[in-house]
Amino acid sequence: MSDTVESAVIVAIDGPAGTGKSSTSKAVAAALGLRYLDTGAQYRAITWWMIANGVDTADPAAIATAAGKPVIVSGTDPAAPTIAVDGEDVSAPIRTQEVSAKVSAVSAVPEVRSRITALQRSIAAEARGGIVVEGRDIGTTVLPDAHLKVFLTASPEARAARRTAELAGADLAATREALIKRDAADSSRKTSPLAKADDAVEVDTTELTLTQVVARVTELVEQRRTALR
Ligand code: C5P
Repeated sequence: MSDTVESAVIVAIDGPAGTGKSSTSKAVAAALGLRYLDTGAQYRAITWWMIANGVDTADPAAIATAAGKPVIVSGTDPAAPTIAVDGEDVSAPIRTQEVSAKVSAVSAVPEVRSRITALQRSIAAEARGGIVVEGRDIGTTVLPDAHLKVFLTASPEARAARRTAELAGADLAATREALIKRDAADSSRKTSPLAKADDAVEVDTTELTLTQVVARVTELVEQRRTALR
């Protein structure tokens, strides 16, 4: 490939909550001129819609029936990512504790996963200059042919401390419990659980600053891009 045409690198970044996936993915995408997709925001958006429309989130059959209804649109500029449902900006309401507590149940429903997975694949395919996609099953299921797969980890203590700092007024012990519960549900579900792909590079972020994680992942992407040329 000629030097003037930059390869459309596809990067999958997976891991549990509080490992720094979003901050890292956005910073890497911005630094390298790539698009950015937060797949957790899409699952949160469909969960928000279920709650807003009175769908019982404890009833998988009801969720499956409604799964095709909401129209979810993700903006992929890493400097200003957006998420809308049926034309409404839901970037704030999808971050409530209610949505966080219910999103694992909604995202475990196969009809929800197949719909959102198809949407994610079409967004990645349209990202001509390349994209960083972050989530739980990107390297294993959504984009198994991604050029680079990264799996971020961190101790439960570090993850809870980061989440607590993000959420003003949150209680550390309660945040830790909620994270552990959500990870257990995400890891044990039948359809595309949270998992490290065999060919993913694992980065333990417990002792690293965000700047160090971003530098490490950026370096990995640049190595892959060089290999693709
Ligand atoms: O990344 P975030 O914490 O916002 O994700 C919210 C939830 O969305 C996760 O706990 C998980 O239930 C679901 N999710 C998923 N698959 C993805 C991304 C997120 O099931 N690829």
